[in-house]
Amino acid sequence: MSELRFDDKVAIVTGAGGGLGKAYAALLAARGAKVLVNDLGGNFQGEGKDQGYADAAAREIRDAGGIAEANGDSVATSAGAQAIVQDALTRWGRVDILVNNAGIVSASGTLSNVTDEQWDKDMAVSASGTFYLCRAVWDGMLERDFGRIVNISSGSWFGMGSAVPYPAAKGAVWAMTRGLAAATQAQGKDVKINAIMPIAGSRMTQLMGPEIHGLMERDFPARAVAPVVAMLAHDSAPCNGEMFTAGGGGYTRVFAGVTRGYRATDKDWTPETALAQFDAVMDTNGFHIPAGSMDEAALYTSDVPWDAFKA
Ligand code: NAD
Repeated sequence: MSELRFDDKVAIVTGAGGGLGKAYAALLAARGAKVLVNDLGGNFQGEGKDQGYADAAAREIRDAGGIAEANGDSVATSAGAQAIVQDALTRWGRVDILVNNAGIVSASGTLSNVTDEQWDKDMAVSASGTFYLCRAVWDGMLERDFGRIVNISSGSWFGMGSAVPYPAAKGAVWAMTRGLAAATQAQGKDVKINAIMPIAGSRMTQLMGPEIHGLMERDFPARAVAPVVAMLAHDSAPCNGEMFTAGGGGYTRVFAGVTRGYRATDKDWTPETALAQFDAVMDTNGFHIPAGSMDEAALYTSDVPWDAFKA
């Protein structure tokens, strides 16, 4: 297979001053992309600001022979996101690739301790930031009939305790990925939006305590996630609207599907029947991955063939 190259492509990687984002930016640049290294430069809880963080990462990439410029705007406001995109447009004329990587974990502990401010902060960076950036590049990508967006979600939405703002924000990222991908698919555009749930040692994994953090840094380096992001950012990206976990040198597909379930023909069915059918409904031997909400709803109509459900 020939090397996946990014020559002449313009990429924005948000939150790329360090950690995973820097690894994504470095790989794209090493393979020819012009990369805008965005980072606000605060701590992992979203406090503070330091343009020097993005400057240093961009310099490191240039020193290694790549093309990179720094940007210190925040993804968490509409104006900040527009400024990031405008920066790339001013320098290089277009945006081909967007990696929505910026994220913070402001809330921890338990639900009763989570403050309104923590909810707003976690949602603002991961959920609103992804929305603002996607919107800011959207028309340009559709007009040029080319774009690759890689959204960074998190395995935290499988469940991460009751401090829910961060997982909730990352769940919103998944929903945006599905919705936007369905839209470009319907329009027949070569604009693909996919997502990953990375697993890597970074300053963010300090939250897990020193022992786990140490193991993560050793066994799950950031550079081991970057190939999946680069593959999804490439012209030859083979999918649209998919999600993958990625870490430690491998990746797996994540999907949301529905089981064969139980489809009552009697509209006046009872709670007793629902309880009696519970095991059948839970059985994952045979499932369907809906292409969209209408596809999911259609499964309740009588003309859906059972072979729509694949084992
Ligand atoms: P990190 O803290 O090193 O990286 C996050 C980066 O985002 C930081 O450099 C930070 O300065 C930047 N940032 C924060 N708010 C910003 C804003 N408003 N505007 C611009 N930049 C901002 O941690 P990381 O582990 O490298 O995380 C990268 C991404 O991967 C995050 O979205 C995180 O939620 C996600 N993630 C990481 C893991 C993991 O195992 N490390 C797991 C799941 C998801």
